[in-house]
Amino acid sequence: MILSGPSGVGKSTIVRRLIDESHGRLRLSVSATTRGPRPGEIPGEHYHFLTPQEFAARREAGDFLECVEVFGRGHWYGTLRSEVLPSLQQGIWVILEIDVDGAERVLEAFPQAVTIFIAPSTTEELERRLRQRGTEDEAGIARRLEVARHELDRRQLYTHQVVNDRVDDAVTAIQTILSDHGMQA
Ligand code: 5GP
Repeated sequence: MILSGPSGVGKSTIVRRLIDESHGRLRLSVSATTRGPRPGEIPGEHYHFLTPQEFAARREAGDFLECVEVFGRGHWYGTLRSEVLPSLQQGIWVILEIDVDGAERVLEAFPQAVTIFIAPSTTEELERRLRQRGTEDEAGIARRLEVARHELDRRQLYTHQVVNDRVDDAVTAIQTILSDHGMQA
């Protein structure tokens, strides 16, 4: 299952709830990134934090299912094969929280993936949440809003779109989509 949506839309909260309530049937693919940890982020749990050199070496070794440089001159993010394939082989669903470029690449390899786009109720609401999070400076917020506009333009790529107005409603909507695709809760 691929879940995308603009930065600040509340994906991480939704993902945590989905996994907590899945009775072990859904596992998170922990991405690798070259960005540094935010306060409270735990290596190996939120991301595998790699140096640019480590990331490049793993890329050359073919360890990634997909990887992209998100935010232009910013940081690299990627899905490690080792985070996805062993679970799928065991019949466990894997959730990939990745951007639209990454989603396109994963769909080439796994056209059967369930794709869900999380949208904000309004772009003003998204901006408010990004500011409230307090993890970005003004330039960072502006860059993320610019990327968000591009992502919102491409949301038609996704089979399902869920507006994150209230987290409870968004989680329930996604659980329904997953059970319609055969995932038993
Ligand atoms: P953040 O830095 O806020 O954690 O994430 C920034 C963006 O990177 C989000 O849009 C997120 O979906 C995307 N992202 C996180 N992990 C991956 C990944 O493994 N691959 C791709 N393509 N994008 C990712």
